[in-house]
Amino acid sequence: MAESPSALTGNPQDAQIESLDPANWEEMRALAHTMIDDAFEWLQTLDDRPVWKPMPDEVKRHFESEAPSQPQGAQAAYDDFKENILPYPMGNPHPRFWGWYMGAGTVTGALSDFLGAILNPNLGGGNHVGNYVEAQVIQWLRNMVAFPEGSSGLLTSGGSMANFTALTVARNAFGNLDIRHRGVGAAGGQMVVYASREVHSCMIKAVETLGLGSAGLQLVDVNPDYTINMEALAAQIREDRAAGKVPFCVVANAGTINTGAVDDLQAIADLCQAEDLWFHVDGAIGAVAVLAESVRDRLSGMERADSIALDLHKSMQIPFEAGAVLVRDEPSHRDTFCVMPEYLAHDKDGGGLAAGKYWFSEYGLQLTRQFRALKVWMCVKEHGLERFGRVIDRNVSQAHYLGERVGEHPALEMMAPIGMDIVCFRYNPGNMDTEALNALNKALLIRLQESGVAAPSYTTLEGRYCLRVAISNHRSRYSDFDLLVEHVLAIGESLAGQE
Ligand SMILES: *Cc1c(COP(=O)(O)O)cnc(C)c1O
Repeated sequence: MAESPSALTGNPQDAQIESLDPANWEEMRALAHTMIDDAFEWLQTLDDRPVWKPMPDEVKRHFESEAPSQPQGAQAAYDDFKENILPYPMGNPHPRFWGWYMGAGTVTGALSDFLGAILNPNLGGGNHVGNYVEAQVIQWLRNMVAFPEGSSGLLTSGGSMANFTALTVARNAFGNLDIRHRGVGAAGGQMVVYASREVHSCMIKAVETLGLGSAGLQLVDVNPDYTINMEALAAQIREDRAAGKVPFCVVANAGTINTGAVDDLQAIADLCQAEDLWFHVDGAIGAVAVLAESVRDRLSGMERADSIALDLHKSMQIPFEAGAVLVRDEPSHRDTFCVMPEYLAHDKDGGGLAAGKYWFSEYGLQLTRQFRALKVWMCVKEHGLERFGRVIDRNVSQAHYLGERVGEHPALEMMAPIGMDIVCFRYNPGNMDTEALNALNKALLIRLQESGVAAPSYTTLEGRYCLRVAISNHRSRYSDFDLLVEHVLAIGESLAGQE
């Protein structure tokens, strides 16, 4: 085998080739260095800027212009980025962004995305190193959650796709009915997935897309701490069976989106075992918290699941997008997604580019897949798993710190128990009805976000609107929460004074 390809002989037509590579590599290299310098400057000065600021109308209009038909050059494209994009991002890298449940990203994660895009491999399959990187990342995740050797996995865009992928396997694996080919009608009745009413909305999309209809997701009542009520769950399954429905899966929440509640995973595992149901864990928030000492014990039982959805772009802080699904029974996983047309046929033990033992396209919907494994792989190498655990532990501790600060002020009211790292509270001066309080807290949140000081989000619990602080941010300091409380009080007082 030659180490390098043979030299080109030269063809006059080559001179006319218009490549998409830089016309001047030295200029491009200088521009690339500028981009890196600007990016580092931006990250290192996050504190000097508002968490978020609204876009002026002229900036919005800038994005209505037609595509250029002629080259403007990389420098012009970058100048446009600096002027019109860089100042108006979502804000989640900032230490006081606590909206929804996101992640802040990391430097090495971003650089890995760059390197991955330079190599630009297709992780659908083939005999190349990218697939070995993803296989190793899957193995690390499998060991992290104590799944057995031989279980399978796939990196996904995020938790939604991970949950969807797992539910598809659960549906197809049900009852040796060959549902993959015969469709859900083969089940002989409405197939039903169970989850608490706190389950994430991606589950609704999943059951609908899977052809079960929204009726295929049965929501179950919760306890006062927002964990699933096991008696209600068991009763619902009995009732549905008696009515001729076909229960096939229970989705446990390892960290609900509203309040971070962790269902009783051991109890759900026992129930699924007794009832012969697929046990799926939505661990988009909580699964990686097995790395955190303060949370680990509450996740006991997750290792008994048939499948787990994880998000790595939330509390693990990998830049978007990075999620993962793990499936205990590899054959069920592959039998759900493997299709092998002649142009994809491959011999795992053969030679050439189509050999190789890893074909991730056989484990999910996507054929062409980006090299998202690289950023996970590099960040885990950089920091080690335990440091991610410490970051999560600190976020949990900060949630309780905020809870204490809230408790010190009579005008602030906790609205739910703190689940992991999510705090729900509201401003309540004590002399308003629910409707007025909801309106006041909505106005307060908008004013807080527009002040640029902090960006929590919101939810509504039992009809009561609250500020929701989801602390999945490796940059947050304790003093950031002091500042939050100070501003919530000030804005609350000023709004209440206007009543
Ligand atoms: C975020 C989240 C999801 C959806 O994950 P994406 O990465 O946003 O697709 C699902 N379930 C829970 C509990 C989540 O927090």
